[in-house]
Amino acid sequence: MRTVDILERKRQGEELSREEIEQLIMGHVRGEIPDYQMAAWLMAVCCRGMSRRETVDLTAAMVASGATLNLSGVSLPVADKHSSGGVGDKTTLVVAPLVRACGVAVAKMSGRGLGFTGGTLDKLESIPGFRVGLSAAQFLRQLEAEGIALAGQTPELAPADRKLYALRDVTGTVQSIPLIASSIMSKKLAIGAQGLVLDVKVGTGAFMARREEARELAHLMVDIGAAAGRRASALLTPMDQPLGLAVGNALEVAEAIETLRGEGPQDLVELSTLLAGEMLYLAGRAGNPEVGRALALEALSSGKALEWLERLLVAQGGDPRVLDDPGVMGRAPVVLPVPAPHAGWVSRAEARKIAGAALILGAGRARKEDPIDHRVGVVLRAKVGTEVEIGEPLAEVHARDISAGERAVEEILHAYSLGEEPPQSVPEVLERWDAPLPGVGGTATGPSRS
Ligand code: URA
Repeated sequence: MRTVDILERKRQGEELSREEIEQLIMGHVRGEIPDYQMAAWLMAVCCRGMSRRETVDLTAAMVASGATLNLSGVSLPVADKHSSGGVGDKTTLVVAPLVRACGVAVAKMSGRGLGFTGGTLDKLESIPGFRVGLSAAQFLRQLEAEGIALAGQTPELAPADRKLYALRDVTGTVQSIPLIASSIMSKKLAIGAQGLVLDVKVGTGAFMARREEARELAHLMVDIGAAAGRRASALLTPMDQPLGLAVGNALEVAEAIETLRGEGPQDLVELSTLLAGEMLYLAGRAGNPEVGRALALEALSSGKALEWLERLLVAQGGDPRVLDDPGVMGRAPVVLPVPAPHAGWVSRAEARKIAGAALILGAGRARKEDPIDHRVGVVLRAKVGTEVEIGEPLAEVHARDISAGERAVEEILHAYSLGEEPPQSVPEVLERWDAPLPGVGGTATGPSRS
């Protein structure tokens, strides 16, 4: 069929066949279909949507556009995780060694931070010497030898997604749930882990501010996984305030290490062990996520998980002295407190604004090519639900100079609200969703599923 006929069919809201979708994706990757035709198709998808079946087929075509990892040489079951991105989300640094310590391999390819969301690669690069740029073959070799690998997305896997994402970025077509779901899942399916947990953030500091949208994305991704024969589950987790206390690359690595020492903030410990429990369950190491979580808590308290972080660092060239001395990553020369303007209960510590302060400090990027300063960031001293006196620190700012520090302090003051009453607490997980194999359709649980 002519490409233009396929585009017209989508423009009219018709469902495309698997062959038509393959024709578009493969034609684009081979350079036979020009960007302007793909851009037209992307816009039609954005406006008309795609059925579940089309989305599953699109994901499969994107996986088939490149290499897939052959995990048969990995002696352990393999699990993977994805977070849709948030502020202060350093869970991967905690969860990967936790899961590995419980006898499940972890194969995780991560991204860089952009805009208000942080990225695991930038955090890892705070550690002197740590190599995130592994080829697919190096990634696989490390997985076979160590049972844990954390690296950047390799160009060999799902190349169609790379091309499509670049087009979506400049055509206003990023925000389409089927396109997001297929983009994320194509990269995950190409890695090939048996179990995949999806942490879908919802709130002002997340990609999805509305719960309905986050739920739709979560269900669709789990269904795509199930259709490909993979065990997947999704947790909808709140992202209105930062996760943990630290926001900024080296500061977050230091907090992840503290957490693996058993001294982490309660919300980070809780979410990390929940995610680890899910991965252990999905990889077949535990009979249910609760048993998996108990195993993860044991690996945390025994110190085994910290040992696995050390092995990971050594395997990827990172300086293991960071485990005892975070100063190895460098320290920001200026630290300023953010004093509470009056007494009260913290009712808001808005993630997006705190990320804005971290951007002012140089911890993140407004554009892909911007450099970042790994040392700078924000450490919260009071989270939602804490009572503070006037002048007590709400947060502290780690800055490279006074001027950036003072601007960040101003921004953080706008991020906080102090009320007269303690606010209602929010659960660490809002909803959970999984799908039985084979096929589509799953079970939902959650404290307040509406
Ligand atoms: N992350 C991805 O990998 N793809 C998207 O489309 C959005 C977020």
